[in-house]
Amino acid sequence: MERVCRGLYIGRFQPYHMGHSQVLQVIAGSVDEVIIGIGSAQRSHQKSDPFTAGERVLMVSRAVEELGIKTYIIPIEDVHRNSLWVSHVKSLTPPFEVVYSNNPLVKELFHEAGIEVVETPLFNRERYSGKRIRRLMLSDDEGWKDLVPTSVLRVIDEIDGVGRLRRISGSDDSREVHSEVSEMRP
Ligand code: NAP
Repeated sequence: MERVCRGLYIGRFQPYHMGHSQVLQVIAGSVDEVIIGIGSAQRSHQKSDPFTAGERVLMVSRAVEELGIKTYIIPIEDVHRNSLWVSHVKSLTPPFEVVYSNNPLVKELFHEAGIEVVETPLFNRERYSGKRIRRLMLSDDEGWKDLVPTSVLRVIDEIDGVGRLRRISGSDDSREVHSEVSEMRP
């Protein structure tokens, strides 16, 4: 029986956008199946992480349906020890041969664990960025709607995601919790 080659693509997807879809299509050209790790799964209701893991699972699963790629979508909470993170990820996901990431810490941790890491291409980064989308949402600029797949737009509407982002952005609870992990937040 032929061995299935799986790749892991990990990101926070706050929210999932067209840039992520383009990366996924490139990855799908190199592996049989893609594991999508929803990073920082414990985070939500914060200015830089407004959506829950469940909401992000919904966004990603609806968007990949349209792409026709075989995927496994797995929420992954952060752990407070970087040295244990790769084992933590492996304990939650189906086996994989290669990791796709541009994040220096992610690359280093998988490299040290002897797992192949491939850099993902950057697609129109000025336009497609989670940070930019959250900023447009906060400034009442409808332009963000062109930057996410229609399926994701529907999820954000269903959960009143923009309303939440605006409400929490003024509260103390929306501040970053400082930890080893938040040091790497853009
Ligand atoms: P991230 O913190 O979600 O994103 C970092 C930046 O890279 C974001 O601006 C993101 O943009 C951008 N980016 C991601 N993929 C890109 C691509 N293909 N092209 C262009 N820009 C891209 O980090 P991440 O690497 O995507 O996700 C890593 C996850 O692993 C995080 O949740 C992190 O907390 C977790 N982690 C945890 C530990 C631990 O628990 N000890 C250790 C290492 C990593 P967008 O916002 O537009 O996606």
